[in-house]
Amino acid sequence: MAVSPYIGRFAPSPTGLLHKGSLLAALASFLDARANDGQWLLRIEDIDPPREVPGAADRILRQLDEHGLHWDEPVLYQSSRLSAYKYALQQLNQAGLLYACYCNRARLRTLGGCYDGACRQHQLCASTCTPNKPYAIRIQLPEHSVITLDDLIQGPLVFDLSKAGDFILWRRDQLPAYQLACSLDDGFQNVTHVIRGYDLLDSTPRQMHLLSSLGFATPQYGHIPVLSNAQGQKLSKQNHAPELNPDKTSSNLLDCLHLLSMPAPHELKYSRVEEVINWAIAHWRRHQIPSGTRVAESDSHGKLSQKDT
Ligand code: GLU
Repeated sequence: MAVSPYIGRFAPSPTGLLHKGSLLAALASFLDARANDGQWLLRIEDIDPPREVPGAADRILRQLDEHGLHWDEPVLYQSSRLSAYKYALQQLNQAGLLYACYCNRARLRTLGGCYDGACRQHQLCASTCTPNKPYAIRIQLPEHSVITLDDLIQGPLVFDLSKAGDFILWRRDQLPAYQLACSLDDGFQNVTHVIRGYDLLDSTPRQMHLLSSLGFATPQYGHIPVLSNAQGQKLSKQNHAPELNPDKTSSNLLDCLHLLSMPAPHELKYSRVEEVINWAIAHWRRHQIPSGTRVAESDSHGKLSQKDT
């Protein structure tokens, strides 16, 4: 049997339970994988212990299972990959791409989100690092670097990577940064398709750059609109989005399908999740997903609208 070249993934951080916004992203990446006869992997991004909610990782697994989103292969826990992240850091350092950044939060705040490269002269080797002073590790970006992305949902996009500023790969508190761990694991797991929320679009050119610096092929990316609440804010753990109701699994899925422009027959509301999922795989049309940045929760039952396009 021919092996499908499609490998997708869902990569939640266990900083809380899944809410409808995260289900939307999980469902879109799952359906895209299954409709393309692909594999769908699950990776728990548990590299930020201070923000982790005890028990959340296990409960996320259960929530996915309850919604019929069954993954292939054992779950990859990023907490088990620290030595791989350190090794990747060494490789990048040997290529002369890293430096130690001693800037404190107060200084960073004045820069408005784009680092100015002030610490570029601080090599990482022990002799030039100031001992006992905490530092973050940044990657030096090329002066001019244009990254083009043919987004599977949003269409063609162009980014000026140098405008993003040198970004952090290892944090001052000695933890690996999301950009490093996520890119390296997408490469390590041979992920070919990343379908995720529009809120992560800013990370995509950085991750494409890191992947190619580490010698990996870059996956194809598709960014779905994020789900916003009645106040227009992104549904998130920070603004207390309610966790998914385990007694309404089919109806949770149907709401998400509606938001993805796939209104399913109403009767499916009373069906088991497996039937809803099978219907959705059979009817999945990636090009139908709205290409805006946000969809509103109130749209899950009525007409879909696109906001902030
Ligand atoms: N772990 C990230 C989050 O929960 C998502 C990573 C990704 O999909 O690239 O926001």
